[in-house]
Amino acid sequence: MLNPSPLLDTELMQFVSTRGHAPAVGLSAAIAAGLAPDGGLYVPDVLPAPRELQAGATLAGTAADLLAPFFEGDPLQDALPEICREAFDFPVPLRPLGRDGDHVLELFHGPTAAFKDIGARFLAGTLSRLQAGKGRDLTIVVATSGDTGAAVAAAFHRQPGVRVVVLYPDGRVSPRQAHQLGCFGDNIQALRVAGSFDDCQAMVKQALADTDLQAQVPLSSANSISLGRLLPQMSYYAHAALTHHARTRRRLNLVVPTGNLGNAMAAVLARALGVPIGQLVLATNANAVLPAYFNGGDYQPQASVATVANAMDVGAPSNFERLRWLYAEDDGELRAAFRAFAVDDVTIRATIASAHASSGELFCPHTATAVKVLQDLRARGAKGDWAVVSTAHPAKFEAVVEPLIGESVQVPPALDALLQRPAHAEPLAADYAALREVLLHR
Ligand SMILES: *Cc1c(COP(=O)(O)O)cnc(C)c1O
Repeated sequence: MLNPSPLLDTELMQFVSTRGHAPAVGLSAAIAAGLAPDGGLYVPDVLPAPRELQAGATLAGTAADLLAPFFEGDPLQDALPEICREAFDFPVPLRPLGRDGDHVLELFHGPTAAFKDIGARFLAGTLSRLQAGKGRDLTIVVATSGDTGAAVAAAFHRQPGVRVVVLYPDGRVSPRQAHQLGCFGDNIQALRVAGSFDDCQAMVKQALADTDLQAQVPLSSANSISLGRLLPQMSYYAHAALTHHARTRRRLNLVVPTGNLGNAMAAVLARALGVPIGQLVLATNANAVLPAYFNGGDYQPQASVATVANAMDVGAPSNFERLRWLYAEDDGELRAAFRAFAVDDVTIRATIASAHASSGELFCPHTATAVKVLQDLRARGAKGDWAVVSTAHPAKFEAVVEPLIGESVQVPPALDALLQRPAHAEPLAADYAALREVLLHR
């Protein structure tokens, strides 16, 4: 792990690229840019030193406290507490689950019923403040495997000075996810791409690296590569682990459903900053690039395969680059720091059905990967307190969940309101030139 070094109070924290060929910038600039100009991901030059964090604050208060060192000296420093209050205005409960010591950390109580609301709302708070008073609209271009796009669209809907273009793989998101993506209108444009999520992500990366295009259309990203989404995701881990630790004096171990590694990366960072998190275990679907690596294989990105946990259908986890940076490119140390397990579709379905039958618990397919991994860890004798991280409400994936449990899943009110609106998405070829046209002409 990189050696954290203490920063002087007045020092502006600098952010550099994982690829090392971009100038250092402050946090606002890094958030506004999304991707670093050399194609790498922004990371802090040095990590703030671990500190004593206080339990007992609200989620927004914990967030502002934890994020303060990153905003030191930044133009948004003074606005940080307000941004946190606006973004984190819904609960993220840590709920006991069945046997002693098992919990579920529910991250799906936001407007689009998935954890991505948290990062997206924080990002919207920062970007809209940075955009205020600028003459030209900012276009946010985002690739989604389902949940990101809706969270970003909801967070930016009707924000002045911002236009959002969302790309999603046609036919590979759930009907309700597709509806959510197309239901906003106004400053939100949904594009259904004839390709995979990895195609969508590659097209977005190409647009963000296209300086010629950006001279005409200022662009930013809202993918999990954006620090404006990654950093605030530390907050719910900090809030849950600090609360748990204050009550029990024990660290909370986590199983995190993982696709692009954004959510898990936030947990790693939070732990490095002193949050009392114990072990971190990654759960993937059949896209098993990370389990293969952490079991001793090479890191080999692959084409993604479609699964029932579609928000995790990722064959080339983009935040892996950040993980390598954090562990100073030391493969041995990195491999030793995590375990990762893949769960196939048959097992995901069986886990959803048996949890419902045995205890009435309902999990979305993503959460079910983590539930299964924790069950296996316990069966092999894992001790201590654990939380499975629940990334979405099961009602978002009713087409998978309802046939398994033989009844309908009640839709949370915020999600229901979105589903009542009409929806529209335009078709797009999986081809960068086609995306470029859309971005240029509107
Ligand atoms: C995005 C998403 C994931 C994967 O999160 P990453 O940060 O990409 O690892 C898991 N579950 C759900 C429901 C998601 O929307």
